[in-house]
Amino acid sequence: AEGNLPPKNITRDMLLGGLLVPGFDKGSCLSRYQSALYRKESPHLPSPHLLERLRIQEALQKKCGPGTKLYRQAIERLKSGTSTENSECNYVVVLSYSGLGNKMLTLTSAFLYAILTNRVLLIDPGAHIADLFCEPFPNTTWLLPPDFPIDHVSSIFKGDPRSYGEMLKGKLIGNAVNGATNGSQLPPYVYLHLSHDYGDFDKLIYCEDDQRLLRKVPWLLLRSNQYFVPTLFLIPEYEQELGRLFPKKDTVFHHLGRYLFHPTNPVWGMIVRSYQAYLAKADETVGIQIRIFDKKNTPFQHVLDQILTCSLEEKVLPNLSLHEPVASSTHAKSKVVLVTSLDSAYFERLRSMYWEHPTATGEIIGVYQPSHEGFEQTGKEMHEMKAWAEIYLLSLTDTLVSSSWSTFGYAARGLGGLKPWIVTYKTTNQMANPPCRRAMSMDPCFHFPPFVDCRARAKSSVDQGALFPYLRHCEDSWGLKLV
Ligand code: GDP
Repeated sequence: AEGNLPPKNITRDMLLGGLLVPGFDKGSCLSRYQSALYRKESPHLPSPHLLERLRIQEALQKKCGPGTKLYRQAIERLKSGTSTENSECNYVVVLSYSGLGNKMLTLTSAFLYAILTNRVLLIDPGAHIADLFCEPFPNTTWLLPPDFPIDHVSSIFKGDPRSYGEMLKGKLIGNAVNGATNGSQLPPYVYLHLSHDYGDFDKLIYCEDDQRLLRKVPWLLLRSNQYFVPTLFLIPEYEQELGRLFPKKDTVFHHLGRYLFHPTNPVWGMIVRSYQAYLAKADETVGIQIRIFDKKNTPFQHVLDQILTCSLEEKVLPNLSLHEPVASSTHAKSKVVLVTSLDSAYFERLRSMYWEHPTATGEIIGVYQPSHEGFEQTGKEMHEMKAWAEIYLLSLTDTLVSSSWSTFGYAARGLGGLKPWIVTYKTTNQMANPPCRRAMSMDPCFHFPPFVDCRARAKSSVDQGALFPYLRHCEDSWGLKLV
């Protein structure tokens, strides 16, 4: 299976600075130990404390995971509706939701939350999780077994009576926050609605007192499409631990994402084939990720102009030479542009441009786009596999130009440790000036942070983006990100 790979360089750190453990069956998930052959070595080493916590988490996942006696006992307690304080195994179950980028950001946030609260991370395998990602934890599974006893898990959404926000609103557990309720009066599971559309009561989950209460609930079900990591840094209880785990704050997704997300063999095959055919021989690679949310009001030419102006001004791509019909020398440098988009028109224009004209620098530009799926088809297996392969391929490029607000691009930049040029498309006919901005950091943006004043239990008027030097408003939204 390793025949068509680049020559193995044994000095490459296959275990990513200790993030990964040896001992998995290599053949069942080739990407786990081969990523180092394709991605440049990260300049960011995981902290010894993070490595220690990952090993502890792995032990917990194995001890309490599906198939164990402790798991069966926890399920029994869930069925009988009893909640016991100090149970040995507590869980956070991520319910399947949203596009792939959003999903990866949510899973990473939930994983960090699981580490901070000593919970086992399980995921509802609803939409092809097992087709996309290998098991991240050794000798166990993170997939929620199909016989999970809560009916219609997939239909729990905002406003469900089992959600923490609704329970608070109905004062069903309100007293508990003030310390009046003991563990036995708490339900054995609570649903946390943490999506972009969450309500003011749901947001109180991010308060310290509420966290203290939730610690007594053995099963947390969580639905989100957000990267809620930045707000975890605002909860006093977790602040110190997070500082030890991530001395360099903006590496959270970079480390946890590379720990969690290993493409399955079929997806890895797609990645390797694209890489070998188009990227491997280039002197330099550029990723251009084009994601348009409002197609009707974002004219094609406008998007293309902004991408091109950004790429040329920032010297990501060379200018054309319109005068000299140059035949480049045989030593010309080659640059390959990997375009990802649901649409093929941008790619075609770029390709023609660099075929019809020589570049002013003499560089040879190749342009490649693996797929153009037309529209988002979340839930369709091959569609999601292509999306994952493309996110991964983007993360392997040297320089990235990405679209504002897109979690697809956030996931790529985080895995690759890249600070992309972020293009924001104007829906009017004027060009944004400048056409793009350099990302402050590689970490993703939390688009809809709660902005809540926990003491007043109301909306906060404090600008959280100005509270700490490592927390800022995102380049492309009023959300929050780690820098
Ligand atoms: P976001 O909507 O840009 O924040 O990213 P998501 O990944 O959460 O959702 C968009 C979904 O649309 C992806 O998961 C893919 O299914 C699809 N999609 C968007 N852009 C691309 C692309 O460039 N390539 C492929 N293959 N799929 C895309």
